[in-house]
Amino acid sequence: MAAKKYMVPMSSPDISEDDRQAVFETMQTRYLSIGPKIEAFERSFREFTGAAEAVGVNSGTSGLHLCVKAAGISEGDLVITTPFSFVSSTNVLLFERAVPVFVDVDPMTGNLDVAQVKQAVEDIISKDPGKLKKWLPKKIAVKTGPLKAILSVDVFGQPAEYDQLQKIVSDHELTLIEDSCEALGAEYKHKKAGGFGDFGVFAFYPNKQVTTGEGGMVITNNKEYADMLRALRNQGRAPGDTWLQHTYLGYNYRLDELSAALGISQMKRVNKLLNDRQRVADWYNAKLSQINGVEKPFVTTDTTRMSWFVYVIRLDKQIDRDVLANKLDIAGIPVRPYFLPIHLQPYMVDLFGYQSGDYPVTEDIGNRSIALPFSGIMTEEQVDLVCEKLSECLLN
Ligand SMILES: *Cc1c(COP(=O)(O)O)cnc(C)c1O
Repeated sequence: MAAKKYMVPMSSPDISEDDRQAVFETMQTRYLSIGPKIEAFERSFREFTGAAEAVGVNSGTSGLHLCVKAAGISEGDLVITTPFSFVSSTNVLLFERAVPVFVDVDPMTGNLDVAQVKQAVEDIISKDPGKLKKWLPKKIAVKTGPLKAILSVDVFGQPAEYDQLQKIVSDHELTLIEDSCEALGAEYKHKKAGGFGDFGVFAFYPNKQVTTGEGGMVITNNKEYADMLRALRNQGRAPGDTWLQHTYLGYNYRLDELSAALGISQMKRVNKLLNDRQRVADWYNAKLSQINGVEKPFVTTDTTRMSWFVYVIRLDKQIDRDVLANKLDIAGIPVRPYFLPIHLQPYMVDLFGYQSGDYPVTEDIGNRSIALPFSGIMTEEQVDLVCEKLSECLLN
């Protein structure tokens, strides 16, 4: 598919001369996979997040999948999660035939509504079939088992409410998987995203804050989990196995050395990358204040550092989002509806019988939101241009 010519790109990676050099130098070595770069990249994450263990993988989705496996989540197990996310966070549960228990989101942040999460946990463990039924999908192909985990997502770079989520998981001995794939460097009450659960996962697709082309990283403080993640990413080879011994059914989820080299180089200036994105978000925040009909992204006071992944605005109810998106597209400004709710994706409707109206807050936000072009290398002129076109398209 030929790329359409836009006046401003939807997103752009920030690649420096040092980044290019780092990849180039790695190509001169004999280590293109399983070498020193992956280890150094993992070290950079231990240092940045303070986690005891970091395990590099070839995508955020692979990382999340391995967390599900390492946590022992299997067929029929229930996992509370959010329908307002990128599909991966639910798909990794389906890979293991676990059953996602969707809980609607907070209308301001779009993150899991913790009061409802608490209610869902209490209802599910009450063993009262009537209460349980309220939270389950209409149609389930497997026999349901116990509630095992909460998989929360730090949507758009803003951490979920971890004081509450941590209390819930510790009261009920559940596993907490934190999908921080959009939130590298974000802080909740001065603590870094990714570090609030038993596992935290980051992703490095080119539109993320730090990129390796494709790639991901899992952090944990649990050595046994880390050993399992390392075995499963490497075709099931446990510590001590030889190249052709496979203790477990594993995967090839390894991150290659070229990608890791790019990752190390990017992590050296991670704070600059995040600050550049903050500056662009600040421009948008200032300029959008003068435009009627749009709501700027909401950042709670608990988010002591926002890690801007995308810049998503909400439109007033009377504005037809899709008509506006189309006008902007024609005007040369790419925009994306964010997110199409997971429960309404065709395969989810087929599998679980969801209907519109099932998660009203998620659907309302999903219907009214668009992501504007965004990256750390956008200029103020580009932000001006987007705001000008947005303003024109809203008026005509
Ligand atoms: C980007 C992202 C992922 C992982 O994406 P990959 O493309 O597999 O690296 C997972 N969850 C969320 C919420 C994401 O935004």
